[in-house]
Amino acid sequence: MSDAAAPERSCGTCTLCCKVLRIVELAKPNGVWCQHARPGQGCAIYSDRPPSCRAFRCGYLASPELPEAWHPARSKIVLVREPHGGITAVVDPGRPDAWKEPPYYAQLKSWAEQVVPANRQMIVRIGARTIVVLPDREVDLGLMDPGDKVIVEAQPGPFGVVYNARKAGPQRIIPSAAGPQR
Ligand code: SF4
Ligand code: SF4
Repeated sequence: MSDAAAPERSCGTCTLCCKVLRIVELAKPNGVWCQHARPGQGCAIYSDRPPSCRAFRCGYLASPELPEAWHPARSKIVLVREPHGGITAVVDPGRPDAWKEPPYYAQLKSWAEQVVPANRQMIVRIGARTIVVLPDREVDLGLMDPGDKVIVEAQPGPFGVVYNARKAGPQRIIPSAAGPQR
């Protein structure tokens, strides 16, 4: 996805990000409608919406080269460009398999082939469920808490690099049980 602005693109009647995204200021989890959303119409507190809502611009709006099929109201997928360069496809839990359908799956795999070797991640989120898209397969990490992290590791194999993905919880400092041993 490019970062070029596409002023000609607009949300229209789409309000999908108000359902699928987590809104920290409102303590709203992924995958449920915001209490202020008016699906298909807009936001009931538009002029007072939180900063993260004001700042958000989905991948469809920000990437004019993406075909119209990626309009979130049609695809049921909200694309998010992560700050570290990865891509997250946040899927409507009401259509949890939308990402597996054409043309979406092939495009997600293509992005995975580009970003994973560059040490970035291609993630599918459906509510709290997280699926890591790798160039050759997907790894379903199941339900994740907001503090959990996705780790993708690369290991050399006889036929090239092999990628794997795992979930890591928040790091905890474990106090030492005893002093230095003599
Ligand atoms: S998902 Fe994208 S197009 Fe839909 S309402 Fe949000 S910003 Fe607009
Ligand atoms: S506050 Fe408004 S813009 Fe933000 S998620 Fe809720 S309905 Fe959407």
